[in-house]
Amino acid sequence: SALRQSTGLHQRSRSSAASLGLQRPGDGLIRKPTSDPRQYKHTTFASGLGVLAVQDAEAKTTGFAMAVEAGMLEDPPDFQGLAHFAEHMVFLGSEKYPNTSAFSDELALHGGQHNAYTSSDSTVYYGQVGNDGAEKALDIFAQFFISPSFAESMVDKEINAVDSEHKKNQPNVHRRMYHLLRSRANPASPAHQFTTGDLDTLKRQPEKDGKSLVEALHAFHKQNYCAKRMHLVIVSSASTDASIELAHRSFDAVPAATDETCPPRREYLDTPMYSHELGNLGRHFVIGTKGSPELWVTFPVRPLRHRYKELAEVYLWSVLGHYGAGGLKALLLQQDLSQTYTYEAETTVAGTMVTVVFHLTEKGAADPDRVLECFFAYINIVRADGVNDRLLDDVRRLHQILFDYREQQASELAVVQTLAQALTEYPPEDVLTGGSLVDRPNDSLVRELLDALVPSNMNVALVSPAFDESKAPHHERYYNFGFSEAPLSAALVDRWAKASGFGLRAPPELAFVPRKLDLIEDSTGDAGPEVLVQAGGVDGWWLGMAPNIPLPKASLQLKVHFPAAVRSGAEDAVLAALHARVVQRVLEQPTDMLATCGVSYTFADLSDGFELSFAGFDEHMADLVALVVPAVRDPGADASWAFEQARRQYVLDLADVARLESHQHALEAFESLTVRGAHSRAALLAAARDPGRVSLRAYRQLLATWFSKDTRLSALVAGNIGRERGRALVAEAAKGLGVRSQGVVAPTNLASAPRVVRPSQTLEARLPNPIPGDPNSATLVVYQFGVPSIADRVHLSLLGEFMDRPVFEALRTERQLGYVVFGYVSRHHSIVEVRVLVQGVREAPDTVEALAEETLRKLTKLVDDMPAEELATRRHALRTELSKPPARLADFAGQYWNQILEGGENCFRRRAMQVAALDAENGTSSRLLAAAW
Ligand SMILES: [Zn+2]
Repeated sequence: SALRQSTGLHQRSRSSAASLGLQRPGDGLIRKPTSDPRQYKHTTFASGLGVLAVQDAEAKTTGFAMAVEAGMLEDPPDFQGLAHFAEHMVFLGSEKYPNTSAFSDELALHGGQHNAYTSSDSTVYYGQVGNDGAEKALDIFAQFFISPSFAESMVDKEINAVDSEHKKNQPNVHRRMYHLLRSRANPASPAHQFTTGDLDTLKRQPEKDGKSLVEALHAFHKQNYCAKRMHLVIVSSASTDASIELAHRSFDAVPAATDETCPPRREYLDTPMYSHELGNLGRHFVIGTKGSPELWVTFPVRPLRHRYKELAEVYLWSVLGHYGAGGLKALLLQQDLSQTYTYEAETTVAGTMVTVVFHLTEKGAADPDRVLECFFAYINIVRADGVNDRLLDDVRRLHQILFDYREQQASELAVVQTLAQALTEYPPEDVLTGGSLVDRPNDSLVRELLDALVPSNMNVALVSPAFDESKAPHHERYYNFGFSEAPLSAALVDRWAKASGFGLRAPPELAFVPRKLDLIEDSTGDAGPEVLVQAGGVDGWWLGMAPNIPLPKASLQLKVHFPAAVRSGAEDAVLAALHARVVQRVLEQPTDMLATCGVSYTFADLSDGFELSFAGFDEHMADLVALVVPAVRDPGADASWAFEQARRQYVLDLADVARLESHQHALEAFESLTVRGAHSRAALLAAARDPGRVSLRAYRQLLATWFSKDTRLSALVAGNIGRERGRALVAEAAKGLGVRSQGVVAPTNLASAPRVVRPSQTLEARLPNPIPGDPNSATLVVYQFGVPSIADRVHLSLLGEFMDRPVFEALRTERQLGYVVFGYVSRHHSIVEVRVLVQGVREAPDTVEALAEETLRKLTKLVDDMPAEELATRRHALRTELSKPPARLADFAGQYWNQILEGGENCFRRRAMQVAALDAENGTSSRLLAAAW
């Protein structure tokens, strides 16, 4: 999909409410997964507005979204970035509700939130709100599409937010490269335009030409935000008819559209984006980076916009995604040219581009031509072999099963957003299946795509740390960087076209497409985990089937606890991080086919041990455990080359400071200052570069210490695995890890000392923004609250919800300090913190800090003055959130996992205790909240 630009960095996602029950598909017109119990009803209002209502019995809030068939490709040439700017402006007041914060305030009061994003093809506005607030919120929401204010004073403010957003994006190498390649597209196609917009493209230049941004906004809205090009989605526990009635009450005021006033959106599928005639194909670009080298290859292919039922590109993905022996990935690793690569097809109204991005090693960066030779040797062999009908059928079956048994999204917010976006791409009956199912396998279309992946039909771009930008012959004006551009050498193109050999062969069929899909009935229900085993250094727990997530899937969580004090210096932290990478590297090939077929693992380094998680279809989970666990203890003979590669890549990654934004660097630095055992980026980098501290020998020694006789294991099994199978899995894991401790793992042994440092006085730290040429500053103000009681948790949750709006309004909307403005309450290991985070170019950090503190001081008064009615509404919203059953297996297990690691079963009821604490306080004033604050 497109690179999305979201206004919503200040929003944080919440846990969820949707869930499942088994039901046959096919009720009504809309095809849905076997396991989806929701009801769907689509209708078109008299105005032409499309409306999809979804009834989800488990939904605790009302989700709503409007997708508009207009995106960055609709930008007028004289107002580049206008679609995105309209997205920013739409939520800022309407004729009926002129107050710019009316919508946000209404949502916040009822525990809701909203967000929006602009893609190439569409703009999607979405939100969720407590059911009591739905009627009012939807009426305010509807007016944004009927008569938005676009007030001049707000335009002048918000343009700074967009300008700041672009400045935030400017250093990002991926955005630079994406824009550079697109900027070369056919001038007759809108794909070549600059999409984010800034002060120059939206205001300064048009004003010089006598054009008004406000007028342009109104014209854009009138032309593109018309009923036939808008799609409304509502999700709630109410019946679909009731939701459609609700929609009528607010959205019947949307002006009726005719084919004349609202023609179908323009498509450019007959306008080639790139061709040799246009002179923009067969080009070679180089841009610089302070980070890792990359090689981008991009191919224009037949437009796939109306071919979604064939979904031919997924065959390509199974070819490129095959990491086993004889595959491209294995070859690139063996030749030490590329660690990994990503691939995507971007399909829009302007056409379809297939892009492959290789993450290069130093050797690959020195010889990118050889990377392409390997790539084309593989594609040539796959093409010569012809389309494998059995593989195509496996891919079709796999996609059907992944679709039928997919987990629900975590919130109404996520559900409505996905559905609304899909309605701009697919007809209503395919809104769930479009892009997911291979309805009409078509080997000739697959063949056509393979035929387009040839060296004579591509552009190539290198992201190179060696490129000297100061000597660059060309300059990109919107992102402000130097680059070089030249035609690809004809001799190379010829050589790649004939590339072959290397022992490459076409990928095999899929071996692990799930077949065993029956469900167990065993479950501990609401009682929380039950002990499976507590002996021999193993602390194992079992949950069984999540009552509202009946899927043939499971999760197995493992934590290996190191013996106390085995880790001290930065070199130990580096070696632990490298171990995670080495394990992943040596297991990549053996586990690849299982991952493709829906069961995968993650392995992460924690400062006091390792965490290993398995998730997905349970049928082959034991096979995966048997592959992974022994490699965690001993990565084997392959560890030597994997270690050296991992170390080099780790150094490159850490040195690539432009991969993060300045506010992320601030958070990272804060972490290294305040958490015991954490190390700064500089310290880690110094250790990783020093072969005297970080070596294969030191790694092997440390591995032996970690898995010594004191190693202990915690485990939790959840989902479609019964007690006996669960016990066997945990035993297998303990054996594979060599857990030999004689003692029982008592909870008190697991509780470690507080991780977050408590300074004796106010602490201020400064570091220069490490990103070269980045004009942004980031300021982070943190208040520590210590370890919270149950009542504290409730109060701080309320405060976190409450402070979001005032901080955003004061620092972003009023003061225009920047695009990134967060005010939030955060768990930080065992303690809680209140934080304000700002990134921008407008004011120096000293000024920002003073403004942040002033805003927090005002918060005290806002809390004191909170009317009883508002407090009750906020309590109700929090109660709703705390009582939601988890919608996903990972959340179901996750709600107990930390408590198993922290303190055992006493805390399993933490959420219920918080609900009880809330109920006990009901009817009281905001005094308790103010006291906590
Ligand atoms: Zn934006």
